[in-house]
Amino acid sequence: MTNYWWSEKIAPGYLHSYEVTPLYEERTPHQHLLILKNRFWGRFLVLDGVVQLTEGDEFIYHEMLVHVPLTVVSKEPQSVLIIGGGDGGSLREILRYPSIERVVQIEVDEAVFRACQKYLREISGDFDDPRVQLIFGDGASYVASEEVKSHPFDVVLVDCTDPVGPAKILFEEDFYRHVREALTPWGVMVQQASLPRTIPHVMPMAYRRTRRVFPQVGIYRAPVPTYGDEIAFVLASKLEVDLRRPQRQVSGRYYNPEVHQASFALPTWWQDLLKTPEQEAA
Ligand code: SAM
Repeated sequence: MTNYWWSEKIAPGYLHSYEVTPLYEERTPHQHLLILKNRFWGRFLVLDGVVQLTEGDEFIYHEMLVHVPLTVVSKEPQSVLIIGGGDGGSLREILRYPSIERVVQIEVDEAVFRACQKYLREISGDFDDPRVQLIFGDGASYVASEEVKSHPFDVVLVDCTDPVGPAKILFEEDFYRHVREALTPWGVMVQQASLPRTIPHVMPMAYRRTRRVFPQVGIYRAPVPTYGDEIAFVLASKLEVDLRRPQRQVSGRYYNPEVHQASFALPTWWQDLLKTPEQEAA
């Protein structure tokens, strides 16, 4: 196949350009899906023009998304709900915990799952593991269902796209309320909260809304080079625990207990952004 230069618009006047070999393209009922290959970053997934993960740096995002919440939950984590995450990278990291007995994953777009299983299989956890149940549907409706409330989760991990299209509802206050009800009394929720540099309204919006619902909320960050800047995560707990302090020792390629603690140190401009009044930031 012919190589060409493909660019992601990170911000007005700022592109990330990759020399790519196209591997797959589909207009799914939910989004435009591309799988490309670049000789530096490897294979990568693009949804609606936005890079979701590359083989070269996905470990930073997935380890930080999974190990921060799974190490702060005060009981050994046994059950996890993943919303989104159709590439399977979060599942891979969750299955590293021997205490895990049940993982339910709900992904709205079956095409993402199919394409990633074919072209990005190496990064995925094992969906054939008997502890794992994969459902295709909207995470917000699922989390509001009676079925979930009668079988709550220790961790809800919102591994979603930014709040446009199908993921918009995953940043609503009602969604966070349903997540709280879907958690065990010691449960925690984590969500990627976008890039404060280029999409500055998402982190303060997610922070404010989760703070209205959970007694304890923290923001932490990770540098994922192909996203263009540091990404924010919002971590919300039903118990007032010290979110900076891991309760169990886990070490990955990026994550370790020191990185965990340090990732909660926020630059002054992030702290200022979190104080932005609602009407300005929304
Ligand atoms: N690493 C990524 C990032 O932050 O850029 C997230 C990757 S993962 C592929 C995001 C997934 O969330 C997509 O596959 C998308 O289909 C899924 N998603 C978006 N809205 C959803 C919803 N309401 N319910 C379930 N899954 C959803």
